[in-house]
Amino acid sequence: MILKKSDMERITSKRKPRKCAKCGLPKIVKIMYGYPSEDAFKTVEEGKIVLGGCCITNDDPSWQCAGCGVKIYKEKQIYGKIRHK
Ligand SMILES: [Zn+2]
Repeated sequence: MILKKSDMERITSKRKPRKCAKCGLPKIVKIMYGYPSEDAFKTVEEGKIVLGGCCITNDDPSWQCAGCGVKIYKEKQIYGKIRHK
């Protein structure tokens, strides 16, 4: 695993965590990218998702803690060649 120094505080998870790794609150919400629909705005008001904006890079966090605002990145799975025998 290679860690960049600038990414020291990066929190990654394979799945949506139940609790925030930083503040411990169970307030992890999904970050939605792209232009939000009216339904999406409703969900934002309900605090279920947050909007990540329309600019999508290859390195965007998937979830955010509604408590402390920390962003959680989805852990990328790297598939290598599996050798049998
Ligand atoms: Zn938090």
